[in-house]
Amino acid sequence: MDSDIKEKYLLAGKIGKDAREYAQSLIEPGALFYDIAEKTEQFIRDNGAMPSFPVNLSINNEAAHYTPYEGDKKKFKTGDLVKIDLGAMVDGYMSDTAITVEVGNTGKYSDLIESTSEALNAAIKVLRPLINIYRIGEEIENIITSYGFNPIKNLGGHGINRYDLHSEIFIPNYDDGNDETIKTEKVIAIEPFASTGIGMIHNGPLGNIYIIDAPKVKNQDEIIYKNFKTIPFAERWLAKLMPDDQAYIKKMISAREVSGFPVLKEHNKSMIAQTEHTIMILSDEIIVTTR
Ligand code: MN
Ligand code: MN
Repeated sequence: MDSDIKEKYLLAGKIGKDAREYAQSLIEPGALFYDIAEKTEQFIRDNGAMPSFPVNLSINNEAAHYTPYEGDKKKFKTGDLVKIDLGAMVDGYMSDTAITVEVGNTGKYSDLIESTSEALNAAIKVLRPLINIYRIGEEIENIITSYGFNPIKNLGGHGINRYDLHSEIFIPNYDDGNDETIKTEKVIAIEPFASTGIGMIHNGPLGNIYIIDAPKVKNQDEIIYKNFKTIPFAERWLAKLMPDDQAYIKKMISAREVSGFPVLKEHNKSMIAQTEHTIMILSDEIIVTTR
């Protein structure tokens, strides 16, 4: 890998890690989702990067894709199980990282959290150039099931390319039998999810995160294209650029020029944890950029 590109991936990873730790330090009972998302995204910008996507703050039975909307008054409560998922982007080179925390440190779900961080470490340990994809999933599944939980089967890790957060490969959280290999000089994210439920998520309501359907945007002067291009954006971000952004988003969705991401969730009684790192698989070394 070109050393200039490698440096940018490393910097994106470092800023992502620092931002994750910063967000974690802000979470406490009574804190507003809005404040934590806004402050963390500002932290990423202040450190010379851009958010790879809006900071996700999904709780309890939600696995991913909730970010607060403009004016959101939602607050964290003691016992909430929060997935902080975020990334930093430097010149299009991205990191993607997540951690799970219990609000008020109740310790009720520390095993569930631990199962995902241990699964991620086990998966990273077996990484090598040309590894079979199912081997990564096998490691994750073995650890999570040994704790008595279920890995989420319809969520997983992914390849990362420049300006492209979910490229090519899908890295399962279970042994899916995929014996394709991962090429060297590849950047990937691995993200074990563990659930107290069945381990299958479904789509909930929209989570205030949107993306442009690039080929369908007829007028590339649209304010969203100029500001966000192919990167997912938050309704909060658009609210700062125009009045009545909600009506604009509705219009763009009906015109099929913008899509919204639904919150990914299990049933009410399930609890979900996630841990995620970005990793470079180089011919001579494996580098976890967000650790
Ligand atoms: Mn992520
Ligand atoms: Mn990811």
